Amino acid sequence: VARSRMVKAIRDAHDEAGFVEIETPLLIKSTPEGARDFVVPSRLQPGSVYALPQSPQQMKQLLMVSGFDRYYQIARCLRDEDLRGDRQPEFTQLDLEMSFVNDTDVMAWVEEMCLAVSKAVTPERPLLNDPFPRFSYREAIDRFGSDKPDLRYGMELHDLGELAAASGFRVFESVLDAGGRVFGLAAPGLGGMTRKQIDELTELAKKAGAGGLVWLALDGEGGIRGSIVKVVGEEMARQLAATAGAGNGDLVLIVADKDIVAQEVLGTLRVELAERHAMYDRALLSYVWVYQFPMYHWDEDNARWDATHNPFSAVLPEDEPLLATNSGDPHTASPDDPAGHARAQQYDIALNGWELGGGSVRFHTREMLSRSFALMGHDAAAQEEQFSGILEAFEYGAPPHGGIALGIDRWIALL
Ligand code: ASP
Repeated sequence: VARSRMVKAIRDAHDEAGFVEIETPLLIKSTPEGARDFVVPSRLQPGSVYALPQSPQQMKQLLMVSGFDRYYQIARCLRDEDLRGDRQPEFTQLDLEMSFVNDTDVMAWVEEMCLAVSKAVTPERPLLNDPFPRFSYREAIDRFGSDKPDLRYGMELHDLGELAAASGFRVFESVLDAGGRVFGLAAPGLGGMTRKQIDELTELAKKAGAGGLVWLALDGEGGIRGSIVKVVGEEMARQLAATAGAGNGDLVLIVADKDIVAQEVLGTLRVELAERHAMYDRALLSYVWVYQFPMYHWDEDNARWDATHNPFSAVLPEDEPLLATNSGDPHTASPDDPAGHARAQQYDIALNGWELGGGSVRFHTREMLSRSFALMGHDAAAQEEQFSGILEAFEYGAPPHGGIALGIDRWIALL
């Protein structure tokens, strides 16, 4: 019943804002979204198969080229992926695309629409933030250890690098020398944790990818204990705890590791502690935006760059020159290419610590899209074979455009 109300609210909001609902075909040519396609054999062309859409991505972009200015659809998507708690092979997206927009225009619309839908489905649940906070990917990682931060509780991460460098603790120093980072967080009121409980957290940290976990516990009277107090001395231990944001009675967790591993491990512990110790109001709705993701990540196995979102996303205008330096020959791509530093015009929306949706402003010229495909390992022939439709469409003069898709199954589950 709630889902039915949600879909109606989505349709009402889009209809009022001038969006047109358009159904796109299911029996198509592959649109890569990073998963495997489900295929359907063709009776009329024996030996050929259709791919079921991982998303209507290319179709909605073609709609923009053909002059539709605001499209949306409640679309079924099919991805041959392993099941997870929040993932299944067929799922439903609210998919939308808009012309003549930049990232903030799309975010502004989605925000307005999310408010309307939340109000229609769960009018009794209070919003933590309106407008929704926006963090660059970098800021989200450094402050929360996550690209889908839950803001219903604190325990922000703090960079302890400067102090750690002068701490005399060899583990910290060698990590920092190798270009790694040292971060810490303070868990309020948990300074009384037993060794056994802390050992459990250490196991969790290791499972999340850390080499180990450093801890400091402050009692109510100003005493401090912890794994490194003897090595660094009480004064330094106190300074580390204070810089991590701790006061009397708090527990400090510190991870020293490669950049983003340190933060992500603490991000995992942050969520775990908040859950275990019921540190937040479960009724609250905390929507947040994370944007300016890295454009590509290096794919070791195939020696090529891969899109972090989808292959149609555009870079930030100021980062465009970073793509120009590769000769366009996919066979010469290297992990040292400047493209590795390019940021995408990509944005994710998260709700209560879960990724709710993601989208981007797209490349809308043949030249830029083709250059980006080349970085991702598609030479001219492969581009023609796989993407001729959209590349040709862009020659007719495509409007700048961007969009997003939100997972409806996840959204209704979270609400
Ligand atoms: N097609 C994308 C996805 O399914 C969403 C988008 O970029 O609009 O993740």
